[in-house]
Amino acid sequence: MILPITIYSDDILRKKAKPLKGVDSEIEDLIGTMFESMRNASGIGLAAPQIGHSIRLLVLDISCMKEYSDAKPMTVINPHILSVRGTNMMEEGCLSIPGVQGDVTRPSVINLKYRDEHFDEKSGEFSGMLARVLQHEIDHLDGTLFVDRLLKRERRKVLPKLNDLSAGIVDASYPHTRTPLSELQG
Ligand SMILES: [Zn+2]
Repeated sequence: MILPITIYSDDILRKKAKPLKGVDSEIEDLIGTMFESMRNASGIGLAAPQIGHSIRLLVLDISCMKEYSDAKPMTVINPHILSVRGTNMMEEGCLSIPGVQGDVTRPSVINLKYRDEHFDEKSGEFSGMLARVLQHEIDHLDGTLFVDRLLKRERRKVLPKLNDLSAGIVDASYPHTRTPLSELQG
């Protein structure tokens, strides 16, 4: 199943998502739906709030990028960043903010504790593109968007586009919505 992607200015993208207590069949289905919705939109990462669920769950798959073709898809539940080191700058985009890109500085290496799709506790050190995508998606679980992290002058450049998105002018090739699904789900 493919669910529409929530678009910038949707309330759910600004909420702090709730931790999961476990993985049941409903969550298993949702994980499948998230991978399908992400791939349908040609994304490399997707957080649950982006399909209308305010829970601490994200998926990513960077194997469509040439230099990362060996990378395995990941399901990440209740992530905690334990430590970080270094910084680097990379251009980011977001399925919830179509048509907007910008350079974001983030730590280059992260140590992460999380639960996998079986709710088994995992930890690991991530660098490069994986560290980047993980931090972008974890931000989503805290109601933070990459445009919040742009330098002021960069943010000024993308402001007209953000205003368009807020006004409902959305140019995206995948199903999307601005209805606060969070309200529908209570
Ligand atoms: Zn995003």
